[in-house]
Formats: sequence, structure tokens, C-alpha cells
Amino acid sequence: MTVSDRAAEAPAGVDMETLSLAIESLHDFVAKQLPESRQLELDHDDICPEDLVRAMCGDELGLQLLFVPEEYGGMGGGAVDVYRLCEQMARVDIGLATSVLATFLGSDPITVGATAEQKATWLSRIADEGILFAYGATEPEAGSDLGALRTTATPVVDDGAVVGYRLTGRKQWISNGGIADAYTILAAAPGGPSWFVLERGAEGFTPNRPEDKHGIRLSNTAALFLDDVFVPVENLVGGVEGQGLVQAQQVFGYTRLMVAAFGLGGGWSALDRAIAYSTMRVQAGGPLSGKQGYTHKLIVPHLVRLEAARALIEQTGVRIDAGEGVGGALNTEGAIAKYLATEAGNAAADAAIQAHGGYGYTRDYLVEKIKRDVRITTIYEGTSEIMEMTIARDRWQQHLKTRGAYYPGRAAGLRALHAAHPEVGAAVAALCYEALGGVLEACRLGRLTRNQHVLLRLGELIAYAEGAASLADRAGAATDGTLPPKADTRFAPADLAAISRVYAREAAWKVAEDGLRWVQGSSTGTDAGTLASSLRVDEIRAAQAGLLADMDQVARAVYLSYD
Ligand SMILES: Cc1cc2nc3c(=O)[nH]c(=O)nc-3n(C[C@H](O)[C@H](O)[C@H](O)COP(=O)(O)OP(=O)(O)OC[C@H]3O[C@@H](n4cnc5c(N)ncnc54)[C@H](O)[C@@H]3O)c2cc1C
Repeated sequence: MTVSDRAAEAPAGVDMETLSLAIESLHDFVAKQLPESRQLELDHDDICPEDLVRAMCGDELGLQLLFVPEEYGGMGGGAVDVYRLCEQMARVDIGLATSVLATFLGSDPITVGATAEQKATWLSRIADEGILFAYGATEPEAGSDLGALRTTATPVVDDGAVVGYRLTGRKQWISNGGIADAYTILAAAPGGPSWFVLERGAEGFTPNRPEDKHGIRLSNTAALFLDDVFVPVENLVGGVEGQGLVQAQQVFGYTRLMVAAFGLGGGWSALDRAIAYSTMRVQAGGPLSGKQGYTHKLIVPHLVRLEAARALIEQTGVRIDAGEGVGGALNTEGAIAKYLATEAGNAAADAAIQAHGGYGYTRDYLVEKIKRDVRITTIYEGTSEIMEMTIARDRWQQHLKTRGAYYPGRAAGLRALHAAHPEVGAAVAALCYEALGGVLEACRLGRLTRNQHVLLRLGELIAYAEGAASLADRAGAATDGTLPPKADTRFAPADLAAISRVYAREAAWKVAEDGLRWVQGSSTGTDAGTLASSLRVDEIRAAQAGLLADMDQVARAVYLSYD
């Protein structure tokens, strides 16, 4: 079944008109309340505009409604709706977007794990009253490894029955930490890590002062101190101890898509500014937009990588909306989307500073702020290294389970796509998958994934390869006119095909050359020539023919779409 077939069946989400209205209202709100000059001022003064956060998540704008299921008074937005809105929020300000995300993250353990009564209480309050949530997982000693958490939940027993818990410990880097009305706190109960809902003002609970951060300075981030804080037993999410880590895992496919959309929005926002700037800035007798050495280094590769990430975000969103993501089934796809989008967004923002020359390095130009803001997306909701590990571990298992047939099997699908659409780069994406299968097999034979670095590099190669496949699929759907109804359509099908061809070449090159490098670099008995021919490195090198012409086409397309 193709992505577009799934989309046609997708039951989740709001209609296009409602989504467009939400995005339009967001931009109207921002134009009025948060012009660029105000953003720069708040960033400079390191102020979280709590009134704006509350207006966005309250009666005035009501963005929170998109995140809350209909039965609790929300609009029941699906994963695609949430991605589209998150991208737009990030285009405005990733700090404010983070505040909105924090309420969603904070209520996530409730959405996936709470009793019907708990859901009715808390989700309805988010929808009706616009209360802000914070998500309290990270601790000073427990970041990527949440299993190391030290915050404890000690049962309070009265008359032989547990009537509540006393929470003691410290949480670190909590978004909305100083302004939230309610918190979900992960703490070790006797039965294992569990989520508890804590209301602001509880005795013994103190949020610390806001952190002085590198970026997202419009977002409130604070440590939380919990000193014997009492929570009633009804606030143990799901009513059973020990479910906390499972509940956290279950939603990663979804929540990582949101952060992926932040990377996409931040990256595109910076790139669009660079594109606009380059049309006006004249050097050496002409605008920078006409200089190939400028566009093909600072604009084109970044937009291509962002669009590969978008393809994966959209594809995964459609699959989640079609019900495939239950119980964390699409966590790896969410991790790939987050990894590709946030790394691409971060690099694009950096390139946008370069594209502005000296002006880009000053605080008057928003690209400087965007670069600092988008930086967080490769850290929170799982760092890039943890994404690499998550991706590699899962696909490694698939490789072993299928006795090496996993990627060659997926390559066959791309060859079929190539037969229908020779213009979308699917044949090169297929070569990329086949080379990836070869790299994985070489790692298996040499037992090379015992080196953690090799495992994590495999995560990167897998992400590139799956990005190429996804983008080719998307370009094919665009040509057929079968993109999902709520898909982004910035690029015309022929230009999307050129974007896909550029990315497929990059992914195949990376998989073959880096794959060779790490296999060769970590093994003793591998013959480089034999491995190179088994990965068909020569074919991948030959497939680079036409790259520059395709980049020329992408540059023309971006300046056309900009006009
Ligand atoms: C602005 C901001 C907002 C945040 N908001 C929230 C929030 O709302 N709620 C919340 O709970 N948390 C939040 N966080 C915390 C965030 O999720 C963590 O910072 C992140 O998960 C990384 O954890 P850490 O900082 O402890 O780094 P560590 O886990 O110590 O990692 C440090 C470095 O080591 C790498 N590393 C870690 N483990 C391994 C490994 N096994 N192998 C190889 N490399 C490894 C990491 O990739 C990273 O590069 C926020 C953080 C920031 C900065």
C-alpha cells in the first residue's frame, strides 16, 4: 500500500480547511503580537512571554485544541495536522513552539496511560481552561538514560491502603517548569518508574529560576525541586506502578515527529531568509542568488536535506494517522525523521548565517537567533546520538531476522517505483539500499557492531538511505497527483523529482563511501576492493553524473517558488 493510499484511508485528524484556518490564525496572531522586533527584544532580554504562551494555548488562539482528542473537548488533530502546525510554529519561534509542545508532552503520559477518569479530568482542563503542562522526566544524573532516575515516590499508607505518594528529588531542564499549572513527574515507586500528576502550588514543590540558555530564550526552562511533595493516589497515571518508561516509549513515534517539524520549520525559516537576502545582495556585479558557488553550497544541499526529512515526517505522520503507530510501532521512523530534520535544520540555519555574511553574525538579523534556537532540536526529545542508536539497533535486528534480506527487499520496491517513475531517483535510492544491506552484512560477518561508533554510524547511514527512499516515493506521488491531502506542495512535481535525484545520489554516496570507511576502519581481514565491488561503489560513483544539472534545476525552482 502506498503512502497516498494510506492517506486516503486515514481516519485521523481535522479537515484541510480547519488546519489551514489554524495556521492562518497563528500567523495573524504573530503578526499582531510578536513582530520580529519584539522577538529580538525578548530574546535579548531573555524573557518568556507567558501571556503569549497562555493566549496561544487558551481562548484567544486555542492551539491546544488541535492536540486534544475530541471526546475531551479538543479537535482531535492527527499526526499530520500536528506536524504541519508545529512546522509553522517553529517558523515563528522555536521557544514559543516548545512551550506549546511542553503541554502536549506533559499530557502525553495521560493520553497513553491514564484511566478514563484521569483523562477526562486533565485533558478536558487543557482543552477548556488552557492549563499549561510541563513534562518532568530529565534529572541532573538521568538524561538520555532515564532508567537512572533518582526521584522517588514513597507510598503513604492509611488504614492499610495506599492513599498517596510523597515525591522527593530534582528534575532538570523542564520546559514550562516555572510557569506550568500542572506537571507530569516521572518517579521511582516501589513497583518501578511511574508518572504522577502534580499541581502547581503543592507544598514542598519549588520551580527554580529560569535557565540562561544559548537559544529558545522565549521559552521558560527550569529545574524543579521536590521535597516530600504529597500527591493523592488518584494522580498515579494509570493507577498502576511501574508503567512509566513504557508509557514514555509509546509516544516517541509521535512526539519525535513534532520536534522533527521544529527542525524543519527552523531550518526553512532560516533558509528562506537567506534566499530572500541573496536576491538583493549584489556582489561582483550581480545578486548572490545568481552565483552558483553560493547557491550550490549554502542553499541547495540544505533544502534538499530538509525536503528528504519532510518526506519521512509526512510519510510517518500518514502512517500514524492510519493507525500503524500503536504501542510505539513507528518509533524508529519517528527517530529517523527527528534525526534527519533536526540535523538538516541546524546545518541549514548555520549556512543561512554564512549566506548573510557579516550581517548574519549580528543579533539584528533573525538568522542568528534561529541558529541558536534550532540547536536545541538535536538535543531534546532524544539527542542525535540516541537517535542513531535507536535507529541502528532496530534495523540491525531487522537485518538479522531477515538474514540480510531487509534492505534488498525494500530496494525491490524502489526498482518498481523506478519502472513507473524513472525521473525520481528511485534506481539510485535502490542502489543505496542494496549497498546498505552489504554494509550491514559486512558488519555482521566481522562482528563490527561491537564497536559502538560503528553501530551509531550505521544509524546515520540508515537514516540517509530511508530518507532517500521516502523522498523518491513522495516525488512519485507528486507526479501522479496522489500526495496525501494535507501534504506540503511548495515544489512542483518535476522540481521535487530533481530534489529527490540530488538526495538519492548523496545518500548512496554516503552509504557506500562511509560504509566502506567504517567497515575497513574497524576490521582486520576485509579486502577493500572486494567490499567496494560488492557494494557496487563504481555504479554509485557513476550515478553522480548529472548532479550539477539537477542542482541547477533545484536552484531555479527555489528562486521561482520564492518569487
Ligand atoms: C532547553 C531544554 C529544554 C528541555 N525540556 C525538557 C522537558 O520539558 N522535559 C524533560 O524531561 N527534559 C527536557 N530537557 C532535557 C533533554 O531532553 C535532555 O537534555 C536530553 O535528553 C539529553 O540529556 P542530558 O542533557 O542529560 O545529556 P546526556 O544524556 O548526559 O548526554 C550528553 C551527551 O552524551 C551523549 N550520550 C548520552 N548517552 C550516550 C550513550 N549511551 N552512548 C553514546 N553517547 C551518549 C548524548 O548524545 C550527548 O551528546 C530539555 C533540555 C533542554 C536543554
